[in-house]
Amino acid sequence: MSDYDFDLFTIGAGSGGVRASRVSAAHGAKVAIAEEHRVGGTCVIRGCVPKKMLVYGAHFAEDLDDCARFGWEIGEKRFDWPTLRDNVLADVDRLNDAYTDTLESHGVEIFHERAEITGPHEITLASGKVVTAKYILIATGARPRLPTCQGAEHGITSNEAFHLDKLPKRIIIAGGGYIANEFAGIFNEFGCKVTLVNRGDQLLRGYDEAVRDRLLQISMTKGIEFKFNTIFENVEPCEDGGFLVKMSDNEEERVDQVMWAVGRVPNTEGLGLENAGIELGENGAIAVDRFSKTNVDHIYAVGDVTDRIQLTPVAIREGQAFADTVFGDGEPVAVEHDCVPSAVFSHPPIASVGMTEGQAKNALGSVKVYLSDFRPMKNVLAGRNERSLMKMICESDNGRIVGIHMIAPEAPEMMQAAAIAVKAGLTKADFDATVAIHPTMAEELVLMR
Ligand code: NDP
Repeated sequence: MSDYDFDLFTIGAGSGGVRASRVSAAHGAKVAIAEEHRVGGTCVIRGCVPKKMLVYGAHFAEDLDDCARFGWEIGEKRFDWPTLRDNVLADVDRLNDAYTDTLESHGVEIFHERAEITGPHEITLASGKVVTAKYILIATGARPRLPTCQGAEHGITSNEAFHLDKLPKRIIIAGGGYIANEFAGIFNEFGCKVTLVNRGDQLLRGYDEAVRDRLLQISMTKGIEFKFNTIFENVEPCEDGGFLVKMSDNEEERVDQVMWAVGRVPNTEGLGLENAGIELGENGAIAVDRFSKTNVDHIYAVGDVTDRIQLTPVAIREGQAFADTVFGDGEPVAVEHDCVPSAVFSHPPIASVGMTEGQAKNALGSVKVYLSDFRPMKNVLAGRNERSLMKMICESDNGRIVGIHMIAPEAPEMMQAAAIAVKAGLTKADFDATVAIHPTMAEELVLMR
């Protein structure tokens, strides 16, 4: 008989927490999980999944314009936001149920309330119930950062964007990262006038310069306005329900909605970390080792709360590795955080794996860069002057591919396969030896000069 109520108590039922709990239970552990919002977490409830559905919905705007060149005649196009919003939210409900079922079918006990660590092995739930666990896993994720300017409370974040009563005619989005560029594309396709305001002079810092520049150029052609090196000073509500936004350099804009997309902060407050002596790192996230273990031997943390790489598949890997390490019969498993592919679901999307050209030059000295700059066949027939770009970066001496970067329709779909080759250390010669599939965009990968 164990001295504890549970072998594992997980706080947070998002991607990382659900995977860790389900797999730990499958390994034979007695597991409980607490979630104060909805089971599924950011990705499923208010992130990747509903966002991707909005991206699909938004893209019809272009497809409906282009279809005439392909011989299709349709009546006047009209977009109904509540229809898409409600269909997306209904699917989120379905996924929320599916995640709950997964936990229950593995025998994980779910507490739909907030949990706080009140002793080394003790957790107190919002209802007052106290339980003990041999291991504790913190998987509480992150939340949108709010800027410190006056009137910041008048802006929405990605959390609220999925629930809007109506679409704003004019929206200003703060930030130049993933969320800002993805929602700029979505709102713009829906016919909103979008201004993206960034504190620096670079969008999507960390991505290769060539693809970032191409996104900026295409986004401007589509009608998105950009302000760089600009910060917010004040957001004032107006009588008509809109807002007057005052920015640096005496810039002002009247808009219907302000959206903050300026990064996400780990959810570490109110968890009772101090009661167990858990340390934070310099970035304010929970500090963990390669096995996601905190400075306290029986307490682990996975996902965005550790701010290693804030991506769902990374959190899932960390959750799986935790469960296998602590409750499996094999060797301890550490997650490799290098060579993680990623995508920005902008219009068009960007996808990337490995080093940018700049990073590769710094790390390796001499590199070879191969480029393909082309107009996809569909765009040619549609009369759409939108070019795609693919870039491959190789080590000079042996041709090993150290990075691939793309901006193209379906770039994330192509990148998932290409990333396997980069992770496996394949060379440009290996790509060249592979016969192209014609006609595709992906064939550019094996035909680059
Ligand atoms: P990002 O880190 O991508 O971008 C944050 C942006 O806000 C940057 O342009 C940054 O500027 C700027 N910024 C940061 N702090 C401030 C501040 N105090 N005032 C003004 N501007 C500021 O964050 P997002 O919020 O877009 O997304 C959060 C994370 O979620 C991402 O990093 C990503 O890991 C994940 N995500 C992934 C997606 C995907 O996989 N497709 C989609 C959405 C989110 P600067 O460059 O100068 O630092």
